[in-house]
Amino acid sequence: MTRSQDLYGRATALLPGGVNSPVRAMGSIGREPLFIESGEGAYLTDVDGNRYVDWVCSWGPLILGHAHPDVVAAVDAAAARGTSFGAPTEGEVELAAQVAERFESVEMVRMTSSGTEASMSAIRLARAATGRERIVKFAGAYHGHVDGLLAEAGSGLATAGVPASPGVTDAQAAATVIVPWNDPEAVTRAVEDSTPAAIIAEPIPANMGVVPPAEGFLDRLRGLADASGAVLILDEVISGFRVARGGAQELLGARADLTVMGKVLGGGLPAAGYGGRRELMERVAPAGDVYQAGTLSGNPLAVAAGLATLAHLDAAAYETLARTTERLGHGLQQAADGHPVTVVFGGPVEPWPPGTLFPGMLTVFFANSSPTDFAAASACDTEAYGRFARALLERGVYPPASQFESWFPSLAHGDEAVDRTVEAAGEAFEEAFA
Ligand SMILES: *Cc1c(COP(=O)(O)O)cnc(C)c1O
Repeated sequence: MTRSQDLYGRATALLPGGVNSPVRAMGSIGREPLFIESGEGAYLTDVDGNRYVDWVCSWGPLILGHAHPDVVAAVDAAAARGTSFGAPTEGEVELAAQVAERFESVEMVRMTSSGTEASMSAIRLARAATGRERIVKFAGAYHGHVDGLLAEAGSGLATAGVPASPGVTDAQAAATVIVPWNDPEAVTRAVEDSTPAAIIAEPIPANMGVVPPAEGFLDRLRGLADASGAVLILDEVISGFRVARGGAQELLGARADLTVMGKVLGGGLPAAGYGGRRELMERVAPAGDVYQAGTLSGNPLAVAAGLATLAHLDAAAYETLARTTERLGHGLQQAADGHPVTVVFGGPVEPWPPGTLFPGMLTVFFANSSPTDFAAASACDTEAYGRFARALLERGVYPPASQFESWFPSLAHGDEAVDRTVEAAGEAFEEAFA
């Protein structure tokens, strides 16, 4: 019995499913989770002393890799000054300034502790600002476990094949209108029929695997929001600070009314937020009447980790990240050649050349062509993905334990980490199709 197996046995008696967030359980790839002892750069070490190249990176926050010395020092220094005050601190002003400088559509930001809270609060604000109730959301998109948004959500719900969660009231579910991603006619009809408070989208969906927007689709959403008076909420919890300094909005030329952010923003500690232009954000209490609060919001440790992380994210960093992602993506593609199922990588379509990848994101889909919506992503061979992922783990490579997630290359992933992964992948594809 390994120490991971032992701990998992104890955990299942004390924590539902043995974990504190569903995808960690690794059930969908048919194995038990590994318990982690430590991380350093691109590598993880489990409690049995096995070392892995980590492509999960805490599901997105760790764009500098594990235990980056600057992040650790910043958190140490902040902790020594006191962990929480329930009063404003200088770092919060600095972080908000960083966000506003990077995101053209953001003048003011309110920080929360999780992306879930941030999207829940952005929706509340959109409803208050419009006096409307309904929300248009895309199938396979995940915006945290907000009650009304759990219908046909991606991430762990897609992994578990859960269409919607019990415990969500009919009224909450009825206020959510779900449309297929990349279907301009369907979203146009939905907006015209439902006159929503908001359209909420991941500009680069990553919770059904990475499924890029078709050319012109984000423009269509902008146009529909303007024409109908709805608030366009772009959930950049993953893409923000990852694909470019100013997130998907900068990379793809999109513009949100409200931007939801998290993950990289907290550099591995709990920080998230939502922001937009001044007149909308000034509706939030205490400047305005839309109530939203948090005991640990803008926590000094999380803010310190976020600032230390963002300090590394300049133009050169995104070039490095893009190069690493392309080396990984093309290496995996080559390793997959000659197998009976084609592996497809989510990446930008027009106007980029074929084979271009978003910096810092990719998905290995077991399908013959790149999925363009949740139905297509769901039709991929997830059994083969499970065999592939298990085989990688046996070879010291730690991939997401679900096809409905992105791989997250970091700035700590050097050539060695990529080469080891590609070599292991060659053997893992053999096993997946054996
Ligand atoms: C992770 C995620 C969230 C939720 O963030 P939490 O901090 O886990 O609550 C929201 N939206 C997207 C796009 C995400 O990937």
